[in-house]
Order: sequence, then C-alpha cells, then structure tokens
Amino acid sequence: MSPKTQTVSDVDFDQPGKQQGYLRVPYSHNTAGWASLQLPITVVANGRGPTLLALGGTHGDEFEGPVALMKLARELEPEAVQGRVIIIPALNLPAVRAGARLSPLDGMNLNRAFPGLYNSSVTSLIAHYLTNVLFPLADIVMDIHSGGRSMVFCPCATLHRVPDDKQYAGMLAAAKVWGARYVFIYADIAGEGLLPVQAERMGKLVVTTEMGGGGECNPEVLRITERGIRNVMIQQGLLGGEVTLPPYQVATVAATEPEDYLEAPADGVYESFCEVGAEVHSGQVLGQVHFPERPDCPPEPVVARTSGILIGRRAIGVTSQGDNVATIARPVPA
Ligand SMILES: [Zn+2]
Repeated sequence: MSPKTQTVSDVDFDQPGKQQGYLRVPYSHNTAGWASLQLPITVVANGRGPTLLALGGTHGDEFEGPVALMKLARELEPEAVQGRVIIIPALNLPAVRAGARLSPLDGMNLNRAFPGLYNSSVTSLIAHYLTNVLFPLADIVMDIHSGGRSMVFCPCATLHRVPDDKQYAGMLAAAKVWGARYVFIYADIAGEGLLPVQAERMGKLVVTTEMGGGGECNPEVLRITERGIRNVMIQQGLLGGEVTLPPYQVATVAATEPEDYLEAPADGVYESFCEVGAEVHSGQVLGQVHFPERPDCPPEPVVARTSGILIGRRAIGVTSQGDNVATIARPVPA
C-alpha cells in the first residue's frame, strides 16, 4: 500500500510527553537533488483529551502567530496538558523566512492550496499532509493569521457561517473566548482552497484570526494573541485555570456580501481617510486613489456601499486596480 502522503514526520503522534522534531517535505532543487524542507513541529501530550492543532505562518508575512506559538512550544509542558497539542509555528517556513505571503519556492499561496496534491510542489505537499494526516488527528484546528504586509485589521477572531449548526456554535464560542475586540464572520472573496475551509469540511472546530497586520509583530496584538491561544485551550479542556476576559465587550460583526468588500478602482497610491475600528456609513468616502503620473488629475474616491465597522484596510500605499482597500463589517446579533 502506498503511503497517504510523501511528507514524513519524525515525531510519534501517539507518544505521551513532549517531542520536538520536523516534518520532512520532499524538495528537490538545483543545488540539492536529494533534499527536504524541514518544518519544525512540537507535540505535547498527556492523558485523554482533545487534540489541538495550532498553526502559524500559513502566510509568511504575518508574525504574531509564529511568535506566540514559538513561545508556547518552548513553555508548554506535558503535566499542564490534558490531551494533545500539536504546534507548527511556521507552517510555510520558506515564506516566513522571506517575510512574504507566498512561498518563494513555488510562488504558491498555502491558504489557496487545499486540499493539496500527493505529488506536486512543496506548498501543495504541505497542504496534502495536513488534509490527510494532521487534520484527521485534530479536534480543534487553530490557524492564526494577521493582515500581512498588504492589510491592517482590527484584531479579530474570524469564522465562516458553516452549515452544521453544532459545529458553528462551537466555532462561535471559541471565537468569542479568543477575546479580540471583534468576532468577524467573513466570506471568501478571493478564491478557493483555504486551510480553514478544508478543516471545516472535515468537521473540525476551526479557530482563525486576523490579528493586526502591516507586516509587523505588534506588542499589543501579540498580547491578545497569546491570551487568545491560552483562553481557547482552557475552554476546550486542554489546560487548567480560568479564561482571562478582555477589558472590553467582544462584538460580533459580519461581512458576508460582496458590497462589504471595496476594491481599488484604478492603479495608483491609496490614501485611507479612516483607521480600522472606525464606524462608517454607506455613501461615505473612505479613501482615494491618487495618480502619481498625473498629479493634475483629481484622485478617484472609494465610497462605502454598506454601513458598519471598518474592520480592515489596505496597508501598502501603492495599489493596483482590484486590490481590496477597505472591508466593512456590519454588527450582527451575537
Ligand atoms: Zn493570512
């Protein structure tokens, strides 16, 4: 029988205690014909309980997740755990090294590569290993994102409105206990093949986030991230102790319609008039695109089509036609 996947692990997922090892993803290239990409993985297991798969660095320019998960991997000891925690702080390690959204090895976006292929390039092999080996082991899949270089978000736990009511209720409860200012119900506006969608389809309790952005590792956002990871682990029975509540009310918002997502009407330099977290209304001019080759031409406005909270905005000035420059999320009953 052929193996389920070409990636091999040197950790034993059934072994109690703490293990630090690598996933070896086949990677044959110009200067090393027989080689593998080695992805660090930590497994901490003790007794019976749920399995959490905690992932950072799915996009390589989002750093709060990797930093928080590297700390967790160093600090977490088996005695503190009831169940199993599998931690991969830099799931797309080549992209994290490059500080880039896409893998420099094959140009792929890991968060559009699911379910992955048995025999393909590195990014697709990583996705395939998760789909076929790691997701089946997990009860909870946590995939920590930030805005990356191109976007800034009001820190939020994010989720889809999955069709299964019980699964959705579990995901919503975990998103609330994450403790960022907003729980953000979002729609996929830029293609298929997302990691959380694959995990959702497999019935997992999926916890995803958009924590800050702009390509930095923000100290305040990192604190919220670290608290969120711990809170979800406590809520799911993996850790003892009490959930730490944030000093504000967590609100639920949704951007589930195409009108909630505003794109640049033209190439140019985008100027945002509003910061994330601002209340905005339909008809309001949220920003404008300037034309550096034609300073005599008036800039083109970007006008809100819905009312709500500016949950995300473009972080990079230079903008192409079709880039998302603003996302408006509407308050919904919690
Ligand atoms: Zn991301």
